[in-house]
Amino acid sequence: MSHVPRVHVLQNFLGADGEITGQITSQIGADGVWIQFDCECTEALPTCKAACCALRGTYLTPEEASSDFYDCFVEEESGLPVLRRDADGWCTYLDRDTRRCSIYENRPQTCKNFHCTRGANVRGWKLSNAVNRHSVN
Ligand code: SF4
Ligand code: SF4
Repeated sequence: MSHVPRVHVLQNFLGADGEITGQITSQIGADGVWIQFDCECTEALPTCKAACCALRGTYLTPEEASSDFYDCFVEEESGLPVLRRDADGWCTYLDRDTRRCSIYENRPQTCKNFHCTRGANVRGWKLSNAVNRHSVN
């Protein structure tokens, strides 16, 4: 018997005409609870707190790494340049008060490409997950 996930709407975002333009839902599946942010990041921030900015694997392109703009280091296990995170686990460029990126216009390509609930191999945001962001397109 296949498992049917239970979907709950946590929040709707409405456009000027009252139509639903974005949504946050939760899915309770056999493998845990997933949060789906089908909305803009700015709408999700009060809920997600920019959780993506605490993920491992914010890798830099060779050009970004050699630009001297970013606080980065070469990760031992991958040999790739990666953005530094602070002791609290969050990216050093995340404004802790606003939960916004302090270098938004110049954020690495990895950050520009990423959305936690969109792209290949992405189903949603699993609570307590430890997804490597480089596994996401
Ligand atoms: S990509 Fe990051 S900021 Fe955007 S909704 Fe997902 S966790 Fe929040
Ligand atoms: S550079 Fe900005 S968007 Fe990228 S992980 Fe850091 S705070 Fe988040």
